[in-house]
Amino acid sequence: MAKVIVVGGGAAGLVAAWRAASLGHAVSLLEANGRLGVKLRISGGGKCNITHDGPPKALMTAFPMDQARFLRPSLHAFDNRAVLDLLHREGVETYTRDNGRVFPLDRPGSAAAVVAAFETLAHRAGVDVRTGARATALEGRVPRLAALRVGEERFTADVFILATGGASYPETGTRGEVLGWLKQLGVPVKAWFPALAPIPMTRPRPTWEGVALRGGELRLSAGIAGRRLGVFAGDIVFTKTGVSGPAALELSQAAERARRDGAAWLAYAATLEPPETVDTSIQSEARGNPRLLAATWLQRHLPERLVDPLLEEAGIGRALMLKDLSKAARKTLVGLATALPLGEPQPVPLARGEVAAGGVELAAVDPRTMALRGWENLRICGELLDIDGPVGGYNLQAAFSTGYVAGSV
Ligand SMILES: Cc1cc2nc3c(=O)[nH]c(=O)nc-3n(C[C@H](O)[C@H](O)[C@H](O)COP(=O)(O)OP(=O)(O)OC[C@H]3O[C@@H](n4cnc5c(N)ncnc54)[C@H](O)[C@@H]3O)c2cc1C
Repeated sequence: MAKVIVVGGGAAGLVAAWRAASLGHAVSLLEANGRLGVKLRISGGGKCNITHDGPPKALMTAFPMDQARFLRPSLHAFDNRAVLDLLHREGVETYTRDNGRVFPLDRPGSAAAVVAAFETLAHRAGVDVRTGARATALEGRVPRLAALRVGEERFTADVFILATGGASYPETGTRGEVLGWLKQLGVPVKAWFPALAPIPMTRPRPTWEGVALRGGELRLSAGIAGRRLGVFAGDIVFTKTGVSGPAALELSQAAERARRDGAAWLAYAATLEPPETVDTSIQSEARGNPRLLAATWLQRHLPERLVDPLLEEAGIGRALMLKDLSKAARKTLVGLATALPLGEPQPVPLARGEVAAGGVELAAVDPRTMALRGWENLRICGELLDIDGPVGGYNLQAAFSTGYVAGSV
């Protein structure tokens, strides 16, 4: 029997602690907050998108290639079925949405029910849970961690499992400081980087707050006429300061990289037809329906609330008919539908991301055990690793799977 200390009582730490205790080890779980699973409780807007449906291979392909390769052994060891079986046994019923996302049945506090299930499992396995215990330092040097400090208190163990999460939503306890301590110990790390966050824009449209653009794609390029850097099919929604919604979240990391590289530009294609095709169809429509207003045509592609201000900015009169548009005005109209300019992003805030990219470099960790290479008694799991999947239940699944193998001491 080993003495195991797990630091961080979120998705990964709860599973790691439960697993290690189930294997007969003496496990203490240290959590900075007054209660466990604070980020889990707010996940999925309080509904908690626990995981994603499908075979492990399909789950893996949602992640960038190096992360997928790293996750293969742990996703096989503790896959989405295993997570759901465990929760079902604890009385948490789940359902799968058409898009493959798995949630607990819609009830008030459904995310809290997921936390409660993991808490029960940990308690039943004999985990000694200490809340209000923020680790303040790591002591030791390669190849052994000698101790962990919580203020004046010093904890020793045969195995330390670090599951302290990322660096977004610091109010949930994840301040990211452990990454800095590991760096000082010589562990290879990548600095935290914003991901899955709303994108503030240089020219926000506060009066459009709440308006959504649907059914098209968000495009990122290196400057207004620059190379295409990324594209994501999905909706966006205007916020007071910029854009949010699925496509904005998914492109936020690339947008921030492009911005730091010197040039980033976002546009939304409400129609995916090439501009030339749209132009031709406008002309034939103008012939067939000579009284059709430019504004009415644009409303087919963009929400009504946006049409008047956009036409005004473009200098196209509200009463102008399609047939009377100059060539230049027609081109402008086509541009609004095929690539509505949103402009340059502002710095994407690390704190508002659903995950933080960066973390302990995957090459430094054994993917079968989450043991830090070169260290005898140190394991890393969850978002503290350099893993950031897309929205859809992937990040929690990665935390559960890596937590499980880390706890398999
Ligand atoms: C708003 C929001 C919604 C999300 N929705 C979803 C979703 O629906 N589906 C999905 O798959 N993913 C979602 N995510 C992402 C997901 O919640 C995380 O990827 C996941 O929680 C990571 O698990 P973790 O255990 O590594 O970290 P966490 O769950 O963040 O747990 C880390 C824990 O470590 C503790 N800790 C940190 N530092 C210390 C320290 N020094 N000492 C002691 N304890 C410490 C923290 O207090 C925290 O409780 C969402 C994230 C956010 C912010």
